[in-house]
Amino acid sequence: MERIWLSSPHMSGTEEEFVKEAFATNWIAPLGPHVNGFEADLAKFTNCGYVSVLSSGTAAIHLALILLGVQAGDFVLCSSFTFSATANPIKYQGANPIFIDSEKETWNICPKLLEEALIDLKEKGILPKALILVHLYGMPAKMDEIMAICDQFNIPIIEDAAEAIGSSYKGKAMGTFGKMGVYSFNGNKIITTSGGGALVSKEKDLIEKATFLATQARDEAVHYEHSHIGYNYRMSNVSAGIGRGQMTVLKQRVEARRAMNQFYREIFKAVPGIEFLNEMEDTYSNYWLSTILIDKEQAGFDREELRLHLLKANIEARPLWKPMHLQPIFEQELAYENGCSESLFSHGLCLPSGSNLTDTEKNRIKNSILELIRVSC
Ligand SMILES: *Cc1c(COP(=O)(O)O)cnc(C)c1O
Repeated sequence: MERIWLSSPHMSGTEEEFVKEAFATNWIAPLGPHVNGFEADLAKFTNCGYVSVLSSGTAAIHLALILLGVQAGDFVLCSSFTFSATANPIKYQGANPIFIDSEKETWNICPKLLEEALIDLKEKGILPKALILVHLYGMPAKMDEIMAICDQFNIPIIEDAAEAIGSSYKGKAMGTFGKMGVYSFNGNKIITTSGGGALVSKEKDLIEKATFLATQARDEAVHYEHSHIGYNYRMSNVSAGIGRGQMTVLKQRVEARRAMNQFYREIFKAVPGIEFLNEMEDTYSNYWLSTILIDKEQAGFDREELRLHLLKANIEARPLWKPMHLQPIFEQELAYENGCSESLFSHGLCLPSGSNLTDTEKNRIKNSILELIRVSC
């Protein structure tokens, strides 16, 4: 039986046309018409103003920090419950992350704890340079509360919407609330360019500067003149071609992911002790990954038992992200904890969520889960 993956690339068929065009015109470079076209497509879809497409989401976060002037010794607030790529660029700059725990409703950064942290840090004489805020698994964070607190303390927000393209809050795209927003087009994301990312902003000068830094910071001159340290972070025209093809089906991809979430709700409907991540009022999630929390006492099995049971049928499932404040690499960093993300990590599981799963594959998943449910109760 073939492997069923957590989230695998799903091409529409039009990508190859765009890639062929790149070859036919010899735009095999980190610039070209598809790069510009993909940026225009993203600007239109997210209604964010300005876009720079880059080699990865990680690169986009790194550039956002540079643009906000984050330097060695500075402090940057960061969601603890996330993938390490959210926090690593803080260390690239020699700065120090301060991790903030989650709240139970969205699993994202807890506004109350964020406020407590900022008050406490102020007393200690620390004013963080920025907040990197994550919308995990596509679920929008509590933006009204978070933005009010950040406004009060004058903290610019970098929105890590790597997992949340197509999600929205009060009709507005995630990634467009903060000073800058970040998307990722890695192979496992909801749309992919095989690898890539984007930085978006309402502020034109920030995005122009990002593109400048991403292309080795070449000043205006015939020879190579440099007054800034540059990076090689631009997206290639071939990748951008794939991205343009993917943009034609982004809406359908979101709908398919949401249908997968519904599929799991049906399967687990009658099982006690299974909890889903639900949308709050005014939020719309792309449900990039379908996730569940399992209470072993009630369900009769825990997340590891379910994961291993699925693995036996060659079906990939994965624990939720391990919080950053529990990672060996970030052990020494400041963290404001409330136990929320630690508990999510120990009870939660990500289930196969691809938009390209066939009915046969869905049946395999369903039967495997039902098998475990039957023996457990
Ligand atoms: C995937 C991901 C990133 C990194 O994006 P890349 O394009 O893989 O560099 C950052 N943050 C989160 C939350 C992600 O899921």
